[in-house]
Amino acid sequence: MLTWPAPQIPRLPGTGEPVRVLDTSTGQVVVAAPGPEARLYVCGITPYDATHLGHASTYVAFDVLVRAWRDAGQRVTYASNVTDVDDPLLERATATGVDWRTLAADQTALYASDMTALGVVPPDVYRGVVESVPQVVAAVEALLARGAAYRLPSPDGGDDVYADLSADPAFGSVAGLDEAAMLVLSAERGGDPDRPGKRSPLDPLLWRAERPGEPAWDAPGLGRGRPGWHIECSVIARDGLGVPFDVQGGGSDLAFPHHECSASHLRLLDAGESARAHVHTGMVGYEGHKMSKSRGNLVLVSRLLADGVEPMAVRLAVLAHRYREDWEWTDEGLVAARQRVVTWRRALAGNGGPDAAPVLAGIRAAVADDLDTPRALAVVDAWAATALAGQVRFHEGAPGLVARAVDALLGVRM
Ligand code: ZN
Repeated sequence: MLTWPAPQIPRLPGTGEPVRVLDTSTGQVVVAAPGPEARLYVCGITPYDATHLGHASTYVAFDVLVRAWRDAGQRVTYASNVTDVDDPLLERATATGVDWRTLAADQTALYASDMTALGVVPPDVYRGVVESVPQVVAAVEALLARGAAYRLPSPDGGDDVYADLSADPAFGSVAGLDEAAMLVLSAERGGDPDRPGKRSPLDPLLWRAERPGEPAWDAPGLGRGRPGWHIECSVIARDGLGVPFDVQGGGSDLAFPHHECSASHLRLLDAGESARAHVHTGMVGYEGHKMSKSRGNLVLVSRLLADGVEPMAVRLAVLAHRYREDWEWTDEGLVAARQRVVTWRRALAGNGGPDAAPVLAGIRAAVADDLDTPRALAVVDAWAATALAGQVRFHEGAPGLVARAVDALLGVRM
């Protein structure tokens, strides 16, 4: 798939600190990419409700991680996917009378334009499921061949294929949930624990045999059908990054079952552990509930931009919250972000101002400390307040360095 244009990242003097992030699976804050190269996989969108603030919050958070790694002198390889065929997309297409391919293409394009506006660095490896079907088929066939998957007749003919979790003793290590909790979340998040005939209720679907009215691809060894959800990310991450990679990222609602199952598939494929760390972003609420299309409380980036909100205000409204915490999108938060844009611009006007070196160091320290962007914003706020008070020693070029630091590390272009 084609990505969107990469933003120019200004060069900064010196080097950033090693970046620490919270690993969900251990609960520890760790240096997830200790080597010269950092490899990141972030689960992409299912293109039918792009791009709401929950999406934006996730991709901006991992964008800050990419920028911090680069600033620390690491070579970054970032991979992501687009789930351009899956149940919710097909259901939406049927409900609205739009061809599923058109829906997916339109929403993927909207996502790309939103990411461009928000200044998000595009992935280096960016693949859709549709273009990855041959690799998924090969992986499902390999799992069947090694006895880690089984066939279950579909009511409409052909066989569905499920992973056999009993073959993976490490299943459960990502999210650390007990079986009762896993069963509840499986039912809520796309699984089918009640389907008769499965060896275990949690066994995830790998291949769905063709159903009437649904898209399907030829796969001689499996029968016509389409990929399950988790195996697509296993395959795209493995092929795009190699395993183990450093960070598997996504919203916290992906920890189980999606990341749990993707990691399990890779173990069963003998690829080993998927990622050194699993990093999850909090859920973004609106009017008291998690943002979701089914609840009808989505705040879309494209709608905000169409209403005249500048993209950097949206980005600052997101960065004002710690990525790993759940938070609520509010009108007040957006007003505060717009005010911050105005204040920073005033402080950055002109050639001189308070010393910028402590600002650069402060932003670097904050983002290296598990992407503490609220603290980074506070560092810039304090500099701006001093600059606007106008009673400090004049440092020539200080506003330029602050502007470059804010741009390079936070992706906020003034
Ligand atoms: Zn994924």
